[in-house]
Amino acid sequence: RIVLGIETSCDDTGAAIVSEDGSLLGEAINSQTNIHVQAGGIVPPVARNLHRDNIDGVVDEALSQANLSLNDIDVVATTIKPGLASCLSVGLQYTKNILQRQHRRKQFIPIHHMEAHALTIRFINSISFPYLVLLISGGHSLLSVVRGVDDFVLLGRGIDDAPGEVFDKVARRLRLKDLPQCTNLSGGQSIEVVASGGNPFRYPLFPIMTRLADCNFSFSGLKSWAMRTIEEEELEQGVLLCEGHISNLADFCATFQYMVFHHICRRVQRGLLFCGMKGLLGESVNNLVISGGVASNQCARLMMSQLCQHYDCHVLTPPPKLCTDNGIMVAWNGVELLRANRRMYDDASCFQVQPKCPLGVDLTHDVRSSC
Ligand code: ATP
Ligand code: FE
Repeated sequence: RIVLGIETSCDDTGAAIVSEDGSLLGEAINSQTNIHVQAGGIVPPVARNLHRDNIDGVVDEALSQANLSLNDIDVVATTIKPGLASCLSVGLQYTKNILQRQHRRKQFIPIHHMEAHALTIRFINSISFPYLVLLISGGHSLLSVVRGVDDFVLLGRGIDDAPGEVFDKVARRLRLKDLPQCTNLSGGQSIEVVASGGNPFRYPLFPIMTRLADCNFSFSGLKSWAMRTIEEEELEQGVLLCEGHISNLADFCATFQYMVFHHICRRVQRGLLFCGMKGLLGESVNNLVISGGVASNQCARLMMSQLCQHYDCHVLTPPPKLCTDNGIMVAWNGVELLRANRRMYDDASCFQVQPKCPLGVDLTHDVRSSC
């Protein structure tokens, strides 16, 4: 059987076709990021209109790469939660139309966006359940145990700004996109580029939630620290931090980046200890999967690998293209559910989008009382 995956939860219109044996037959994506960056953030009606304008073209492109037509598709897997309601609705409505109009019967699989991110690794690496997954992106931060295709345990979640969002805001405040080496890079990538060669210990470590012994993530305090420090540096030196004082800028970016990942590492460490205590990762080799746009950061990978060495844990990351939003992860999640014969429906008409939907069984409070 052949699965068409459709993703419209945020600012990427993605589609992919994956066969039941796991082969990628076709894929396409239309990213709205550049448009939203110019507007200073995602404007939901603009995003919805762009999804509407592009969804036909994206699905057609995926089909034509696969040399197939809609008629050849057996299952449509579509992200229906969580995300921006108006954006998710475009993908779901498109799916309902396909299911109603096509003569050949198709089945529908509703997809949870974060579950799809968490399962993507298995599309390229046949690791078995259970494993730990850390998702760090422009919209999310979470730590979860993946016990099966539809069995997740949530250990930690972001309680305020997402890490990528904070990277983007600080990069904007520093006007990094004006630097020649940062042209066309995202905020996080720009900070990583400028940070190389900088001293990550130039400023004392800013403590984040050190008194709360849980796995939740918080980045808003660090963002305020960054904004305050930039202002103080600029006042002290009488120049903008981004102009002329590249060595200070490199140190600042290196320190900021280090602090973001130091906090994340502490949370993952607690997660590993909790899993050990509760036997959540089983007896075999532990695997930690890191995904989301922020996971492409080399400093993050290095710090996480160093941490995991102490816990006999392997760190795995999907290739950057699969770390960010895409149609392949949705189609693959469809294949995983199809193989397990779970969550298959003959009709999509009774489904609605869900802007908010937590991932799996919530153990975030248990972590705090145990560790
Ligand atoms: P979500 O997938 O949660 O809806 P999103 O689509 O905004 O959020 P992604 O596309 O996964 O997020 O990732 C984009 C984010 O990743 C941006 O905030 C960007 O700054 C950040 N990012 C990308 N590369 C790096 C890097 N090398 N270091 C740090 N952050 C990075
Ligand atoms: Fe995402």
